[in-house]
Amino acid sequence: MISRLEPLGFEVERMRFGNVENFWARRGASGPVFCFAGHTDVVPSGPLEEWHSEPFAPVVRNGVLYGRGAADMKTGLAAMITATEDFVHAYPKHRGSIAYLITSDEEGPSIDGTKRVMQELNARGERIDWCLVGEPSSESTVGDTVKIGRRGSLSGRLTVHGVQGHVAYPQLAVNPLHVFAPALLELTTHVWDQGTEHFPPTTFQISNFNAGTGAPNVIPGELKARFNLRYSPVQTLDGLKKAVVEILDRHGIKYTLDWFVSGEPFYTPPGVMSDALSKAVVEITGRAPTLATTCGTSDGRFIAATGAQVVELGVVNSTIHKVNECVRVEDLDALQSMYFNLLRNLLA
Ligand SMILES: [Zn+2]
Repeated sequence: MISRLEPLGFEVERMRFGNVENFWARRGASGPVFCFAGHTDVVPSGPLEEWHSEPFAPVVRNGVLYGRGAADMKTGLAAMITATEDFVHAYPKHRGSIAYLITSDEEGPSIDGTKRVMQELNARGERIDWCLVGEPSSESTVGDTVKIGRRGSLSGRLTVHGVQGHVAYPQLAVNPLHVFAPALLELTTHVWDQGTEHFPPTTFQISNFNAGTGAPNVIPGELKARFNLRYSPVQTLDGLKKAVVEILDRHGIKYTLDWFVSGEPFYTPPGVMSDALSKAVVEITGRAPTLATTCGTSDGRFIAATGAQVVELGVVNSTIHKVNECVRVEDLDALQSMYFNLLRNLLA
């Protein structure tokens, strides 16, 4: 990517933090700053015997490109580069700046990647006005869905403490399953909020639930549960934590609880950026994309936190992280054209 951007007049800055390679590139000194963002790392291949071809040797069969990262998101990065080449050749004196924020740690801990680069940019007062994250956002045809936000993700690891004993002598034990059951019912039926126009309501899910020694005559001494909340921006982290704790406390449960925040939500209300992108898509497909906030978290949250308008558009995501990950080759031409139109709509 760097070797393609430098000849176009981009000033490229490698930003290595810890073991993570990132780069920031910029063409132009003035604002507004439009930035392409994405990641070069991929998840593991999974069982090799289930792949129809070598996962790390890209191959085209019947108009479909196969390989790990084909959809998430190496072809998105390629489309950014070729769209930028076309745009710079067509509009060498475009207004504002084009930037790239590329990391190699999105699928991993995501600590020394986009988050750190944004800290660095903030520290020196360099800001991004509009950002396009090239994550695979499309559902069945390229351009059918654009992400204008993501829900937040909050996880908890709960241990309910009881007293182990003989099932025949319950008066000498405290069964953590029985103590927790009414609270569990409340947690799973609680209406957290109604969502918003662009966000579904907040949801609570138990992902792991373990108790019992395996013996049929023993009351377990403790119960372990893990749960996750996917939440809309009407919630705050503190508010959600308080609500969960309030329910547990009201049921008189003895417990320990550890929290894990895997992503705070972001939301870019419809405006200049989403309008420019919708127009760019309509010019190719004839249909306006759905503006959605569904699915997991993305690095867009770190960029949106600085006030940038962040939207996500990429190829169809139906095979991401799966074996035989793939993308239709014709979709890549369409995506490149959408990216080109977006650049033109914003900076020509
Ligand atoms: Zn990705």
